[in-house]
Amino acid sequence: MVLTVIERNGDGTPTAESAEVLAAARDLAEQLGVPVAAVAVGDAGDLPDDLAKRGVAQLHLLQHALLADGSPSCTGEALSQLVAAQRPAAVLAPGTDRSTEAMAWAAAELGVPLATACTEIRPGIRPGEPWEVTRERSGGILLEDAVLDAPIRLATVRPGAPVPSETAAAHEVTVHVLVPDLDASVPRARLVDRRPRAAGMTLTTAPVVVAGGRGVGGADGDAVLEELAGLVGGAVGCSRVATNNGWRPHADQVGLTGTRISPDLYVACGISGATQHWVGCMNARSILAVNTDPEAPMVTRATWAVIGDVHEVLPAVIAELRRRSGR
Ligand SMILES: Cc1cc2nc3c(=O)[nH]c(=O)nc-3n(C[C@H](O)[C@H](O)[C@H](O)COP(=O)(O)OP(=O)(O)OC[C@H]3O[C@@H](n4cnc5c(N)ncnc54)[C@H](O)[C@@H]3O)c2cc1C
Repeated sequence: MVLTVIERNGDGTPTAESAEVLAAARDLAEQLGVPVAAVAVGDAGDLPDDLAKRGVAQLHLLQHALLADGSPSCTGEALSQLVAAQRPAAVLAPGTDRSTEAMAWAAAELGVPLATACTEIRPGIRPGEPWEVTRERSGGILLEDAVLDAPIRLATVRPGAPVPSETAAAHEVTVHVLVPDLDASVPRARLVDRRPRAAGMTLTTAPVVVAGGRGVGGADGDAVLEELAGLVGGAVGCSRVATNNGWRPHADQVGLTGTRISPDLYVACGISGATQHWVGCMNARSILAVNTDPEAPMVTRATWAVIGDVHEVLPAVIAELRRRSGR
């Protein structure tokens, strides 16, 4: 079997990234001539009906109080126990931060390698033959061809694969519950706070993103970003300096370890354009940089740049927008 790790939305349905992985798993399972199985944390809810439409034959539910907070080490440990018992040919998971970390824990526990951020998986022709994978490295600026050779192949799939179509229900999904053997020493991270995602526009859906970095100079400076974003119907993003300093939540971070965006316009305020930030915004259709340094990489790569202090430029832009709109 090809076992697929399912991340769930708040309503229990598979996330968009999980739906992509299910499509990749179906492809792989077809080539191997084996069924597709899925593993998820929690109760079944409507998941079996949903998965039936996606060609899944078996659903394994991991149930334990220590799994409730989504600790990657707990999920990884539970997953390794399921994999050791079921011996699937491969385990595929979404290439999200959380699943990648859980898979790394599982791989370490099982003593097998993990291929992360795969864009293509090519199984060997004969059983036991090494597989070839293409994987994204360095935030998408290079692709690597690698060989995956292990008794059980573990891989994460880079999010953003083509949206899969649902397949007709071929059979009922059989549901199996595993209560993994976990104790209080397994969680390595503790959930201290939950911040609900703001309703409405998100970084990935906004046509304009106004982002601030070190040059904005602190949480106080963010008011001007919020105001500008509000005026142009956009969302606010930031660099890692802003999240590291606690000026903005991680959900607003653009970049390699944040969100990758492709708005019509990206307004980068006081952001140098380090590679790790650039990979998150390089797909913007146009970029306006506001920076005091004419040599900053963000400035040299931007569509337009204003060389100046954000604390002077942004209030002036806001005043002009207000004047023109009569607000
Ligand atoms: C593994 C790893 C992953 C990372 N992931 C990310 C990521 O996802 N996202 C991310 O952003 N970074 C990430 N980073 C960090 C990244 O390398 C940079 O350190 C970070 O992007 C720099 O943020 P910044 O541009 O705000 O700050 P700086 O690089 O310090 O740049 C500040 C800029 O502001 C300008 N400036 C200063 N004052 C003003 C002013 N008053 N008006 C106008 N301009 C001004 C300066 O000229 C400068 O260009 C990662 C790093 C590593 C090692």
